[in-house]
Amino acid sequence: MRTLSLKNPQMRGSDVVRWQQFLLSRGFYDGSIEGDFDEETEEATEDYQKEMWLQVTGIVDQATLQRAIQDGFNPPSDSSSRPHYTTEPGVVLSTDVERLLAPLADLYYQETGADLVITSGTRTPRSQAEAMYTNMRNGADPRDLYRNHEAADEIWTAYNQEQRNRASRDDAIDALTSVIEGQVSRGVFISRHLQARGVDVRNRTMTSEQRHTFERLATQAGTRASSENEHREGPHYHVQF
Ligand SMILES: [Zn+2]
Repeated sequence: MRTLSLKNPQMRGSDVVRWQQFLLSRGFYDGSIEGDFDEETEEATEDYQKEMWLQVTGIVDQATLQRAIQDGFNPPSDSSSRPHYTTEPGVVLSTDVERLLAPLADLYYQETGADLVITSGTRTPRSQAEAMYTNMRNGADPRDLYRNHEAADEIWTAYNQEQRNRASRDDAIDALTSVIEGQVSRGVFISRHLQARGVDVRNRTMTSEQRHTFERLATQAGTRASSENEHREGPHYHVQF
């Protein structure tokens, strides 16, 4: 494991996550397990070093690491440096989201041995329009799927108008895009994916134990995994960072 310390920009990764978990389990840390080596983590490291009669540096050096391993700390293997999530084709994640998602996926992998599958990331009004157009073509009624019925109804009405006019796919999507753009400009988001920092995580392939684990880890990371059913891939978790 690399040497961890407070730096600018902050060190981040599954090793930091593990270190924070270790400090938490030993009562030295009560912050969130986000995988950022921040000031709180440094202070907790110093407290741990004091307690163990180590040199108090706030740096997780070899001496500290070795002592911690004797104490039950389990450093991550090198394989955990690869990201523990995969994305479906066409899914776009912002670097912000990648930065927040990676440690959550690492933790999930540590506990379950499985990777997360990201089925949706950030959407533009146009990609939202395309997704909804496809759903409506397949017989879905957005008023059943989206919480904001008024916004869904506006899109549904525009879609039916285009159908009556026998508009081409491209023209219909143009029309839906401008409806969605208008909503966004009024601060109305039919989907939270129109705002940055939303991702969908497939959960139909998770066991119920894996679901519990994921929900718990999301809460620990300061976010929440909510069940959603808005897209053609069926039920999934929506995570808003
Ligand atoms: Zn979602």
